[in-house]
Parts: sequence; structure tokens; C-alpha cells
Amino acid sequence: MKFDLHVHTTYSDGDYTPQEVIKIAKEKGLGGIAITDHDECRGYKDVSGDKSKGMNVYAGIELAAKFYGEVHVLGLLIDWQNKPLLNHIEKTAKSRYQRAKLMLGKLKKAGVDISMDEVEYACKGDILGRPHFASVLVKKGYASSSKEAFTRYLSDKAPCYVRLEKIDVKSAVDLIKDAGGKAVLAHPGLMRVSTFNKLLPKLEDYGFWGIEAYHPSHTDGQCREFVSMAKRYGLFVTAGSDFHGNVKPKVSIGQEQRGGKYLEESMGQLGLT
Ligand code: AMP
Ligand code: ZN
Ligand code: FE
Ligand code: FE
Repeated sequence: MKFDLHVHTTYSDGDYTPQEVIKIAKEKGLGGIAITDHDECRGYKDVSGDKSKGMNVYAGIELAAKFYGEVHVLGLLIDWQNKPLLNHIEKTAKSRYQRAKLMLGKLKKAGVDISMDEVEYACKGDILGRPHFASVLVKKGYASSSKEAFTRYLSDKAPCYVRLEKIDVKSAVDLIKDAGGKAVLAHPGLMRVSTFNKLLPKLEDYGFWGIEAYHPSHTDGQCREFVSMAKRYGLFVTAGSDFHGNVKPKVSIGQEQRGGKYLEESMGQLGLT
């Protein structure tokens, strides 16, 4: 069976609703997908009953956390109604709103005239993120593509960047575990190498269950490396596309299928095969 354990929807910065994402995944013949929105898990309620055609939908989340640098922690098979997790989501949504206001101020100083209404319109859910800014910047002609909007205005090296307040990585893992889920280190290949090297020996201690060894941004060599690191530290391996839609136009749902026997082993451990 084919799985995709990392998919974004309109509940964060994806272009497709949970229902649309499921429809595409079914058309591609996937056996299961995890909905893993940034700092948000309420999208699951829209598709929780959808088990037709052998397609399983797992509740998940991708928490933004910090440990020296930025770390993304996937939570798989969470109870999406867990109170502490929902409290965290609500708090984060508020700080994302405050950060959006600061970004608008910086953009204004850079000569960009966009409004909070426009950014909120681009964002279908509560999780205001930089990709929503990017889509408004493209729509209004300030950039020719999302990529250019990031390079010129939004990336962490660009003038209009505002850092988002994040929880520490151990608290992120605890939130996920307390919500009954498995914590997985997302796309280690996208992390700053120094952050990854410091975190690796602590993963098990912090309560991580797995590593997303297979991600479209990883070369085959990196995938092999992350698998062997996972094995060394007694962790399981997962695979996901990190599908968003237009923000990452080259990535499609279910495209990350290099997981093979290692992913099968993990799915068995989760009781999902
Ligand atoms: P935020 O959570 O608001 O800080 O936005 C993070 C999201 O922005 C990531 O999940 C990516 O989808 C996107 N992103 C971050 N950096 C870049 C970049 N340099 N180019 C394109 N997209 C990016
Ligand atoms: Zn995203
Ligand atoms: Fe991520
Ligand atoms: Fe993601």
C-alpha cells in the first residue's frame, strides 16, 4: 500500500481543502494519508469519517519548534480534539496574527501596499503564514512567483521577515505524546546542519518516535543516511511529500515513495498495514 504521511491543506498554507486532498490521494491510489498542517489539526474533522475505497485518513500536525535553530515536529495519529494541543494552536494562531501585523509594517516601509484583509482572504483557516503573504505579493504584481516573493521580502534573510515565537522542541514532543500521537522529526535535510547535529543524539531522550527520512528535498544518499541514523538511535522511519499545492508546484501528493521496507516496518509498528 502507498502512504503519504505529510500533507498540508487550506487549514494552514496548502491550496486544497482536506476533502480535495483526499480526492486527489484516492485518484492516485494511495492507501492512507496524514493531514499535517502547520500548527493546526482541526482540518481532520472535515474528513474524519472518510474511509471509503480503502483510503485511510490519519490526524496529524506539524509543530514549529525551536532548538538552537528551527525544528519542525510532525505529530502522527494524534487525538485532534486534545485540549492542551488545541490551546497551543489557539495561542499560536494569535501570535501568527501579531507577527503578520509586524510584517505588514515592514512591507509598507519597503514600499509594498497590501492590507491585512488581503492576507486574511488568502488564508482560508486561522494559521496566517508567509505563503499567504507570498500569494498576495504575486497577485498584486510585487513578485512574479512565490519563490521571488520569499527571496525579495519574506525569507529569513529578506528585509520583511519577522521571526515567529516558537515552543521548544521537547515541549512540542510532549504536546504530541500527550495527545496520543507519535513525534517525528520532519525533513531533517531542510534543517540547518548544526541544529540537526546537536539534536540527533537527543531525539530518543526527548521522546521522538521517528525521523522523516524520506522527503522530496532529500537526495537518495541523504535518505540512506537518515535511515541509518534512525536505526542507530532506535527510531522508526517515515515518508511524506509535504504537499502544499502552488507554493511548491513541483511536489504532488503521494510522490515520496522511496520508503520501501523501512516505511512498511513503521506502518506495521503503528498497526496501519
Ligand atoms: P511560516 O510558518 O509563516 O514561517 O512559513 C513557513 C512556510 O513558508 C514553509 O512551510 C514553506 O512552505 C514556506 N517557505 C519558507 N521559506 C521559503 C522559501 N525560501 N521559499 C519558498 N517557501 C518558503
Ligand atoms: Zn507550509
Ligand atoms: Fe516543515
Ligand atoms: Fe510541511
